[in-house]
Amino acid sequence: MTAVVVHGIGALCTCDPLLGEAPGVIPDAALVARDGVIVYAGPEAALDRSDVPRDALEVHARGAAVIPGFVDAHTHIVWLGDRGDEYAQRAGGATYAEIAASGGGIRATVRATAPGSVDELAAAGRERARRMLVNGTTTIEVKSGYGLEQEAEMRELDAAERLRQWQDLPEVVATYLPLHTTPDGPRDAYIDDVCTHGVAAAAKRATFVDAYCEAGAYTVAECARLFTAAAKHRLRPKIHAEQLSRTGGALLAAQAGAVSADHLEHATNTDLEALSKAGVVGVILPGASLVLGGPPPPGRRLIDAGCTVAVATDCNPGTCYSESMPLMISLAVALGGLTPAQALVAATAGGAAALGLADRGILRRGLRCDAVILETPSWVDVGYHLGGDIVASVILDGRLEVPSKA
Ligand SMILES: [Zn+2]
Repeated sequence: MTAVVVHGIGALCTCDPLLGEAPGVIPDAALVARDGVIVYAGPEAALDRSDVPRDALEVHARGAAVIPGFVDAHTHIVWLGDRGDEYAQRAGGATYAEIAASGGGIRATVRATAPGSVDELAAAGRERARRMLVNGTTTIEVKSGYGLEQEAEMRELDAAERLRQWQDLPEVVATYLPLHTTPDGPRDAYIDDVCTHGVAAAAKRATFVDAYCEAGAYTVAECARLFTAAAKHRLRPKIHAEQLSRTGGALLAAQAGAVSADHLEHATNTDLEALSKAGVVGVILPGASLVLGGPPPPGRRLIDAGCTVAVATDCNPGTCYSESMPLMISLAVALGGLTPAQALVAATAGGAAALGLADRGILRRGLRCDAVILETPSWVDVGYHLGGDIVASVILDGRLEVPSKA
């Protein structure tokens, strides 16, 4: 048995909608977990000592705030190669389209990643996943998408499984993203292969299927075909939709019963209302919005449409090389129009909803104990302290996985 008790929490920020005004703060609180499950989350004064296992690890928050571990519901962290040169080219005035036309962009990552072994892919993903944990993230979604042929895609998913088995990394949920960039060979033959062999092989390795629905990538009809084929193997859809232009991907997400629709900068309010009606989570990726410089992430518009909102890093080598959820919270407020409380909930409970996980993202008795002890008494500092080092320590599945630096 492992047990942990956190005393002296100045503000326990539960993100629990049952506790009224977001983000559901309990002052002067304690948090107790046994075998990864929260057994107490409430006022310290009301803690019954018999609820604290005798051999529990005692941690003192010294008046700091405690929040749920971040759930980063959209990442592409299994890649090889380096595209720092493109970063400089874009700063010098080259457009994303020009770089792609000269062999850069996603294709450069595919060339570097597709030949990689599972060991190499997992080692590269491990470094990024560990940085995510140190920044307070306790669950990550990991997509394939840089293989462009089935065996390479499966090696990426096998690398994600390797990450899932490492106990000192955030928990991993794998997504099969076969329709990402387009193949050199016949397009229909590639999609045929994905819809027959690909989804069957991926079903043993992934929870979700995903597609990049965009001009220059895949059409609504092609994405719909993938989702229909994947449904036979119980792979639930997610979709990259309305990022660079409006193509109809959000409406497809609503029709197909997707768990989430991601990006959405070019979505209309009618699109967002359709997502809300269908119960599709809207995932904003404000780091990519910032780098690409288009319309802002539609955080407030999603809230106004009644959608559940998640915020994620989109960590990838082209449009957002960041492992930091606190930075994404800052950007969700600055660019996406969310309040600090809405942004924090979107990064925790919202992320969990975007992965269909009902057991985390909220600090409540009976749920999984993933929590972050902050450096500061104020949870607002997570977004307010732009680029600040605000994570003191991290509890992952009821274990103190990142001890305090103090
Ligand atoms: Zn993405």
